[in-house]
Amino acid sequence: MEPRRGGRAARLTLGLALLCSALEAAPAGPQPRSAVGKFWHVSDLHLDPTYHITPDRTKVCSSSKGANASNPGPFGDFLCDSPYQLILSAFAFMKDSKQQVSFMIWTGDSPPHVPVKELSTKLVISIIGNMSSTIRNFFPDLQVFPALGNHDYWPQDQLPVTTSEVYNAVADFWKPWLTDEAISTFRKGGFYTQLFESSDSSQPLRIISLNTNLYYSPNSVTVNITDPANQFAWLEGILEACSQKEEKVYIIGHVPIGYLPYARNTTAIREYYNERLVKIFRKYSSVIAGQFFGHTHRDSIMVLLDEEEKPVNSLFVAPAVTPVKNVWQMESNNPGVRLYQYDLLDYSLLDLWQFYLDLRDANKKNESNWKLEYILTKAYGIEDLKPESLYEMAKQLSMPHSTLFEQYYSNFIVPTLFLHGSGNVLKQESWCGGADVTAARFITSWRPLDVPLKCSCQRHRI
Ligand SMILES: [Zn+2]
Ligand SMILES: [Zn+2]
Repeated sequence: MEPRRGGRAARLTLGLALLCSALEAAPAGPQPRSAVGKFWHVSDLHLDPTYHITPDRTKVCSSSKGANASNPGPFGDFLCDSPYQLILSAFAFMKDSKQQVSFMIWTGDSPPHVPVKELSTKLVISIIGNMSSTIRNFFPDLQVFPALGNHDYWPQDQLPVTTSEVYNAVADFWKPWLTDEAISTFRKGGFYTQLFESSDSSQPLRIISLNTNLYYSPNSVTVNITDPANQFAWLEGILEACSQKEEKVYIIGHVPIGYLPYARNTTAIREYYNERLVKIFRKYSSVIAGQFFGHTHRDSIMVLLDEEEKPVNSLFVAPAVTPVKNVWQMESNNPGVRLYQYDLLDYSLLDLWQFYLDLRDANKKNESNWKLEYILTKAYGIEDLKPESLYEMAKQLSMPHSTLFEQYYSNFIVPTLFLHGSGNVLKQESWCGGADVTAARFITSWRPLDVPLKCSCQRHRI
């Protein structure tokens, strides 16, 4: 591991993620609360247009890369990216749930995981266009705030620092949702900001959609560039203006800051960029009411600490809609979408409702039955999703022999599935004891297959 700049204090802390069967007994949908706003978060759709049921299991989908699909059905397979029918079922569920949402965030990655030569700029553009119009068909009047993913480009990961064919085409797809000003910055660098005004709230919310793919380690275009596409300078300018005007901000992006949940001590973006973003987010933490990412496909939470190790920001990584895993991986995730609840007065986050589709069951019954998986505050017995609440929860979980952890562990984790052996090992690796909380600590959760929760510390290139 390379030494990191900025010292221990410049780390994100915590990570966790969870789910459980116990919550399946919860009511079918969130109950309305006064002064509460809601929004959907979807991520990593990864449509595989080649998916089809055929007797030759190596030919079910390109995304299995020649491996036998495990148990293919109409809603997909754990070795394949999403068939269109799975994506339709996710949006149909969201629509039919009749949740009174104010908006939706969509954090990128539409194309499938296939070798570079099987895609092209044209194909990538057409898949993003397909996903954009699919969302718009389901929710013609809903405000959607999208962000680009590392797969939303060809060749994948190589998102450029200037205008490009992909940025321009995607800007055209997203015009119905974005202002002219947002579209104009998006064309230049794949990022934008936009104000969301709602009659329910006394003040507007500012969305900042970052192109964190510019900082992603495999992006060779940005190697040795201090400020790719001048996004850092732009971000600081926007946040400075927000703090003058006392606006509240949600940050959305694809590749998250902080450590990866499946690779120890490895940040998803380059260390230098990670430190730089952490510094900016700390400086303006009082205006940032939440941060939302995708990319890892793993349900995770992080808390950003300031220099005094005070919790100042809550960060969430949403699980993917695609169930795909590599053939050598033991576990995968069932498809997931989530709903956040926020305080209409100050946009602070109140709760998170995680929904999932039991893929095997859906395939068996030829029917998609999306279900509530857990409610975060209920699963952990916390008040809300504010940084202080999440940090207290993290500290509890990080205590050796913590009752909460033991409870969580015994209820939700299947010990034999840990690659690193016993729960103690995972606990040590995930949390490194109660005192050392300055680094990001993840408990990685996987959507249930045979069991409610599976954890793993496997390396996984998404
Ligand atoms: Zn992805
Ligand atoms: Zn990604």
